[in-house]
Amino acid sequence: MATPLTADALVRALHAEGVTVREHSGWRTHNRNHKGAWGPVHGVMLHHTAGTDSLRLCREGTAVLPGPLCIGLVTKDGTVHLLGFGRTNHAGAGSAAVLAAVTAERTPPPPPGPDAVDGNARFYGFEIENLGNGRDPYPAPQLAAVERLSAALCRAHGWGGASVVGHREWTRRKIDPTFSMTRMRARVDSRLAAEPAGASPPPVPSHEPFPGAAFFVPGRRSELITAVGERLVAEGCGRYAVGPGPVWGRADVLSYAAWQRRLGYTGAAADGVPGRASWDRLRVPRTGRGAAA
Ligand SMILES: [Zn+2]
Repeated sequence: MATPLTADALVRALHAEGVTVREHSGWRTHNRNHKGAWGPVHGVMLHHTAGTDSLRLCREGTAVLPGPLCIGLVTKDGTVHLLGFGRTNHAGAGSAAVLAAVTAERTPPPPPGPDAVDGNARFYGFEIENLGNGRDPYPAPQLAAVERLSAALCRAHGWGGASVVGHREWTRRKIDPTFSMTRMRARVDSRLAAEPAGASPPPVPSHEPFPGAAFFVPGRRSELITAVGERLVAEGCGRYAVGPGPVWGRADVLSYAAWQRRLGYTGAAADGVPGRASWDRLRVPRTGRGAAA
């Protein structure tokens, strides 16, 4: 969960990731914010246009679905055309279970449940020019641009590739986009593991990287778990009668759930199992030995 970037910050993030950007006139203030909430945002949603004259369609929409239909359109040459900014008519209503999974960065998301949540408020929407008939190709430069723009937003927000979803994963009503979202998320994750194009060498990170949700099984013993508990206590989220200590247990789960609730997660997204986004915000100092300790 995050406050949406500003338009300027979005452009900076796209450039830093090596995206070819074309800014169309008025895009920064072209949105549907007068029709409902914009943010907090939880991820990036990808679509295909399923039609021709995509630029005009995405900017203006139709009589029944007014534009903008997305923040940006990725054309076949790999250019990201910025057409709107803010709430756009791209996602419509979708699955609460999928939103919870994306928020907690559990991947792949579950099959979509009934339409229940306003996705236009919760996702950055991007359209990808394609007829969507299963025969129209997605050229390599176009998929590379999708990877880069998704990584740009994930990097800016401290998200992983699990925060990127396809429209068809959001609602049973849709089939777009017609490429593998699992593969696209893997591409985004590999890009995130490297530095953005053109960036200078990174400083040595001062905080422990996310060891993965699977690390946190009951009975796991690690110096890192003590460090997590100490941070939770420092944040006022400690729920320990004794400790914290090196063995992952019930009190750690309760404490971590308190931290997730502090960040605004609810329900299944505040289950006490660390996810990448909440982990990155906890900023656990280096133990020197990491998860292997
Ligand atoms: Zn769509």
